Amino acid sequence: MMTADYAARLHAVLDRIRAAEQRFQRPPGAVRLLAVGKTQPAAAIAALAAAGQRDFGENYFQEALDKMAELATLDLEWHFIGPMQANKTRGIAEHFAWVHSVDRLKIAERLSAQRPDHLPPLNVCLQVNIDREPTKHGLDEADLAEVARAVATLPRLRLRGLMAIPAPATEFAAQRRSFARLRELRERLAGAGLMLDTLSAGMSDDLEAAIAEGATLVRIGTALFGPRP
Ligand SMILES: *Cc1c(COP(=O)(O)O)cnc(C)c1O
Repeated sequence: MMTADYAARLHAVLDRIRAAEQRFQRPPGAVRLLAVGKTQPAAAIAALAAAGQRDFGENYFQEALDKMAELATLDLEWHFIGPMQANKTRGIAEHFAWVHSVDRLKIAERLSAQRPDHLPPLNVCLQVNIDREPTKHGLDEADLAEVARAVATLPRLRLRGLMAIPAPATEFAAQRRSFARLRELRERLAGAGLMLDTLSAGMSDDLEAAIAEGATLVRIGTALFGPRP
């Protein structure tokens, strides 16, 4: 695609977000766009950055590191959103501003211990396995409160919110049901005194349903970059 095509796709996605904010009575600007560039070349990210996008999400550590090196002159904010392996936490703690996929306390402890002192605390979301799929990463709802309380005390992390990847659903009502559960989990934590400002929810095919249920950040790949190579 040409640079102008990326700009057009970015504006189309931003229009979808603004329309959903309006339709579901969310304040204008309540939802942040994370561009998910996994398997896409650095040139595609540079084109989106030129069109004004600043937050980028990556799933694979080595791939992300290569792109960061290529794009080092740009002022971008990098979010790690992929499965967490214990042997990758140091690199992630050193190179990212956010991690959305923290799904166990041990990983959070390592990230906190390994976050360099010269950087601000690492922003983290706890990933919840919202539809209880056996093959998916994420905390069980039953364990969430205990892990959240422990993560909130870690000195070099800032617990920002919850993240989920629901089971695929095409119907809007079914999409909403999963996101509604995520919203309720955040409300329950708030009731227990743990305030979180972020719900990382919604992808290319379900961002409207996520915004209807309170998403504050949507993670969008295909609608921005086209199909993954
Ligand atoms: C790939 C990916 C996305 C983006 O998905 P699209 O359907 O391409 O928008 C969002 N979140 C996570 C965790 C992903 O792995």
